[in-house]
Amino acid sequence: MTSPLMNVYARAPLAFVRGEGAWLYGSEGGEPYLDCVAGVASNALGHCHPALVAALTEQGNKLWHVSNMFEVPGQDALAARLTDACFADTVFFANTGTEAVECAIKVARRYHAARGDAQRQTIIGFHGAFHGRTYAALNAAGNAAHLDGFGEPMAGFVHRSPDDWAALAAAIADPATAAVLIEPVQGEGGARAMTRGFLESLRAACTAAGVLLIYDEVQSGMGRTGQLFAHQWFPGTEPDIMAVAKALGSGLPVAACLATTEAASGMAPGGHGSTFGGNPLAMAVAIAAFDEIAKPEMLEHARALSEHLRGSLAALAAGWPDVITEVRGKGLLIGLKLVPNNRAFIAAARDQRLLVAGGGENIVRLLPPLTMSFAEADEVVARLDATCAAMTAAVEVAA
Ligand SMILES: *Cc1c(COP(=O)(O)O)cnc(C)c1O
Repeated sequence: MTSPLMNVYARAPLAFVRGEGAWLYGSEGGEPYLDCVAGVASNALGHCHPALVAALTEQGNKLWHVSNMFEVPGQDALAARLTDACFADTVFFANTGTEAVECAIKVARRYHAARGDAQRQTIIGFHGAFHGRTYAALNAAGNAAHLDGFGEPMAGFVHRSPDDWAALAAAIADPATAAVLIEPVQGEGGARAMTRGFLESLRAACTAAGVLLIYDEVQSGMGRTGQLFAHQWFPGTEPDIMAVAKALGSGLPVAACLATTEAASGMAPGGHGSTFGGNPLAMAVAIAAFDEIAKPEMLEHARALSEHLRGSLAALAAGWPDVITEVRGKGLLIGLKLVPNNRAFIAAARDQRLLVAGGGENIVRLLPPLTMSFAEADEVVARLDATCAAMTAAVEVAA
């Protein structure tokens, strides 16, 4: 059977009809699935959180969209919450993570251009990065597989490894460099957390060189690591510009590019825009999501859940050394480094009615909703244990 859908996703043969908290109900019926994908870290509050449903239905009956030709009070309200909660002074609203990254790159280049430093255009990206699928974001990440067949690589992007400080420092000191773009915790690339020392050195080197520091917290932000933003684990490492999306709308497409007044000083009317970005419906839901996620008790729960889960996962890995070799990431952005193929593991987990995501370096990612209970987390580990057993039995049968 041919599909009318463009052939870009390798989808699991599974559709869902309903979600509630950490559980998803399949169209085939039967037992629900325990969801550690959470819409790729987007459904931070689980499925159909009552506060979000209330905000969506209330706003849905009032006003959805008006365009940015008019004031949108919800944008002011959400921007005030965001700027109160982090380094930033000013916010641009978009719809998707890749758009927030595009905005961040434009803000950085404009900053230098407006200061008469237009030769500063180079963006330094990192091996293993992921910033989305639009052209600049793809070129910033530099993943050859994602760029293949899409034309000449764009000028103005170079790539370094977080493990090669000398080469990175030289690139930062280059007078053509505009900004460094990095995920404080790499998500798609393999749940790799940058260290405090590295981010401190990076911040200091950027400041010394007059280079802007951009964090892509599209996946690591909005409570995912147990702080509102991952870099807030390390005071003093604040960026100049930050991209946020995924859990910002907690299931509705909402994204933001945040910046200091200084970093955004090159932007002026006409400099950027979006038809849908920050529309009243998106803002109503995102405000409700923010107010839940930013609660101290929610972030505290995320930290406690992470600790609980990581304790159990360390024991699980110790019990299955031929399957899991490492537990990594930060907070509830958890990576399990595997011996067997991660795609096979994801399919085997699905047989246990557990949904997990893949990632670079043959990891699987666990991205549970921040609202998951300890009992549900224990059930995740039990199902992972059963998955490891099934994988091991399959290997023994094959051998
Ligand atoms: C998902 C992701 C993006 C892209 O977000 P989209 O909404 O798919 O455009 C960018 N950066 C990071 C770190 C991400 O995880």
